[in-house]
Amino acid sequence: MRATRFLITTALLGGLAAPASAKIRVVSSLDDFASIAGAVGGDNVETVALAKGYQDPHFVDPKPSFILQLSRANLLIAAGLELEIGYLPPLIDQSRNADIHPGGKGYLDASVGCDILQRPTQQVTRAMGDVHPFGNPHYWLDPENGRMIARSIAAKLSELDPGHSAAYSANLAAFEAKLTAKETEWRSLMAPYSGTKIVTFHNSWPNFAKAFSLVVAGHIEPKPGIPPTPSHTLEIINLIIAEKIPLMLVEPYFDTKTPKYIAGKTGATVLTFYPSVGGTPEIKDYFSLFDHDINLLVSAMKGKS
Ligand SMILES: [Zn+2]
Repeated sequence: MRATRFLITTALLGGLAAPASAKIRVVSSLDDFASIAGAVGGDNVETVALAKGYQDPHFVDPKPSFILQLSRANLLIAAGLELEIGYLPPLIDQSRNADIHPGGKGYLDASVGCDILQRPTQQVTRAMGDVHPFGNPHYWLDPENGRMIARSIAAKLSELDPGHSAAYSANLAAFEAKLTAKETEWRSLMAPYSGTKIVTFHNSWPNFAKAFSLVVAGHIEPKPGIPPTPSHTLEIINLIIAEKIPLMLVEPYFDTKTPKYIAGKTGATVLTFYPSVGGTPEIKDYFSLFDHDINLLVSAMKGKS
């Protein structure tokens, strides 16, 4: 009996302490961070994301398996800025893994160092809807922020696993070189549509719009997290007509009833626009996320000219 208990304890400790030969276990809130961590970590890490790319990243249904994954994690990567406030803090508590608490050595807030837009300058109240008090948390949709996230992950992996820091540096350099080349390609594809006004369902796209010189003129949600209302929908219809707005971008987890109604009144095109890796099977990594969305937007705009 005594021996059995000793064995179980050793196995648990071994699992938590990650022996030198084991891979670094990375859990991220979003598939986007898992993709970047996989590129930077290579063979020395294993990654898993809690949210699926087709789910609303603000509202993830916690599963018991998440607690197990978090209990075994060496590194937790979160978007921060309160994107995950609705589900992640209790899961961290229940994981009983002190390393991955905010401030712990195994916690990485991916927003640090990124260009964060729309930081509120006034007190945030419930009347403003689901406004995030530290700025817009959908910042990974600017590829330059993807670069910052990759650098933060490489630095953190080197800290947790210094024996492989040369590999992390080399992988980061390869990721950045590919990103630089892809950014040139994406910018040239988007250049003809610079200054195009768009309406988006949720306020997910300010960083994307900034990166590719689009202008977000309005949102189908009257306030963040608040479903469409008839009066606001009428305002959006009038705005689209007055400003000749060609496109509405709708995240895959929203009902398209209102966007389609607005399209019927205005002629604007509804595009299902994916904010995360894994939103559809062809969006298999951080690069194909931009490939997919940019190709969709460019084809829709070509159809209009
Ligand atoms: Zn949001």
